[in-house]
Amino acid sequence: MTDEQILEALQACNAVTKGHFKLTSGLHSDTYIQCARVLEQPRLTNELAAEAVARLPHDLKVDLVAAPAVGGIIFGYAVAAALDTSFIFSERSEGTMVFRRSFHIPEGANVLVCEDVVTTGGSVQELIKLVKDANAQIVAIVSLVDRGKKPDFGSPYFPLVTLETPSWQPESCTLCQTGQKITIPGSRSLAKNTIKP
Ligand code: ZN
Repeated sequence: MTDEQILEALQACNAVTKGHFKLTSGLHSDTYIQCARVLEQPRLTNELAAEAVARLPHDLKVDLVAAPAVGGIIFGYAVAAALDTSFIFSERSEGTMVFRRSFHIPEGANVLVCEDVVTTGGSVQELIKLVKDANAQIVAIVSLVDRGKKPDFGSPYFPLVTLETPSWQPESCTLCQTGQKITIPGSRSLAKNTIKP
């Protein structure tokens, strides 16, 4: 798939919406990337995951794909399937990113981290720390969409699509100043544990 075809696919399934949004990172924006519109289509998700894998360095050795819940789970799973590796996910427990469900990173494993949308990359950074704490190494980070904030993960980063959309600190948000109602679409705004143990 070309960059243009990927972008067309995202727009065709209405993954890019306009309004006034509070992002998971806490920043406000006039654009929200709702990857669920993509991920609810398994065939498209698998195609995008295969494309993301095809764009990785061909000599990259991956033992395990890990993703932060909830956003990264489906895409990470699809990427792991394309790579024919195992897949695990981390999730928040009382605000802290942890592995539950007996998910485990073997010492020395080559781990590929996957996320759906990266803005500041906070969840990815927390997952990277968990991987390093397990004495494993991050070989690369892959995202479906990057919002153009150029996060530094300290490892090679391969966003499939970069969509530079404006975002602001709440205190300097022009949409707040005009009194436009805000929507909080991110998963972190939902009940504390949307996934039951
Ligand atoms: Zn705002």
